[in-house]
Amino acid sequence: MSKTSHSVGGLTVTISARGASRLKDGHVWVYRSDLVSADGVSPGALVSVVDQRGQAFGTALYSSSSQIAIRLISHEPVADLSALLRQRLADAIAYRERIIRDTNAYRLVFSEADFLPGLIVDRYNDILSLQILTQAMDAETAREVITSELTDRLHPASMIERADPRVRQLEDLPPRPSGLIQGDKTSTIFTMNGVQFHFDALAGQKTGAFLDQRENYAAAAQYAHGEALDVFCYQGGFALHLAQRCSRVTGVDSSRPALEVADQNAALNGHNIEWIEANAFDLLKDYSSSGSRYDTIVLDPPAFAKTKRDLDAALRGYKELNLRALKMLRPGGVLVTCSCSYHVSQADFIGVLADAARDAHRTLRLAEVRGQAKDHPILLNVPETAYLKCIIAIVSE
Ligand code: SAH
Repeated sequence: MSKTSHSVGGLTVTISARGASRLKDGHVWVYRSDLVSADGVSPGALVSVVDQRGQAFGTALYSSSSQIAIRLISHEPVADLSALLRQRLADAIAYRERIIRDTNAYRLVFSEADFLPGLIVDRYNDILSLQILTQAMDAETAREVITSELTDRLHPASMIERADPRVRQLEDLPPRPSGLIQGDKTSTIFTMNGVQFHFDALAGQKTGAFLDQRENYAAAAQYAHGEALDVFCYQGGFALHLAQRCSRVTGVDSSRPALEVADQNAALNGHNIEWIEANAFDLLKDYSSSGSRYDTIVLDPPAFAKTKRDLDAALRGYKELNLRALKMLRPGGVLVTCSCSYHVSQADFIGVLADAARDAHRTLRLAEVRGQAKDHPILLNVPETAYLKCIIAIVSE
């Protein structure tokens, strides 16, 4: 049977030459503007993807409302989506078993990067936290396969869903509350790199912690020394790691609830860390002009460039933060500086840092150019899967 003659349950979506060329380049998305026809295709359906000449590109999950209309799930015809989902979940779990060490909190499933577009699953010790981001993954059969497979393989105490109202609206899905979908445990303690953290499944940002920084915490701790400042510290991810090596650690964040958990985390690990509730821009301005000095500074701000249009303003924001931090570092001091804005490329970010070093009259030696932890895999031909930059640099004079 030729590939072109196959269709899944008769449902076929035809894409334009531009959409086809994206898929040929190895991307997995086709935008709505590149659809030629999707007649009779229901929201969230499994579809065969062909171009106008009849060339087949594989099987995709369809969204009737998102700008990303097609997310490719296989280059082959797919007869049984449930079986494919089960296999993909098994593969994602097996991959983590190979690469994860010294932690019981990590991302188990990272959407496209695990060939499960629209599904994110994070493990926090014995609790699983799910995000369902597309019509196809929200379907009852898909939900049932996902939860039963995760239960059978991992036996979690509970599973919770973090529903994002904005995403559900974009996908034209009915509102749904965040909450337990299985079991009744909503809090636990997890361990990463030997550091313990409180986890409350129904509170906090993201799914509760910034798991993508896990390997960067350990790397930062290797260089850290003396007096340390963790700016945008949230619940203390970097600060708690720095406290293993530094004589004094201060964490800064504008969120009081985050700092309350940070303080509990410090107590849990037997560290004495000072937490300051402040706007980081104001605090860095005050501290740098009043002559405060540090040996280690971490900058991990929220994404400044949410869209491409924000890029220039975002670069200015990063420049200001890094400039002030560089002015405050003693000779031999360590700067750990991060950007989680996808629209700011690694080259852009290094450029900003070079500009800041020049303006601060400091010589910076690049120690490490890092990204997101390995449990957040990057698909080389899907640039959107790579977003986190973490640079460790040493001020030499
Ligand atoms: N470093 C943290 C993650 C930081 S996320 C970790 O590894 O866990 C970004 C943090 O910046 C959030 O906690 C948010 O509350 C805080 N934040 C956002 N804007 C801020 C501002 N202007 N000043 C201080 N903190 C801010």
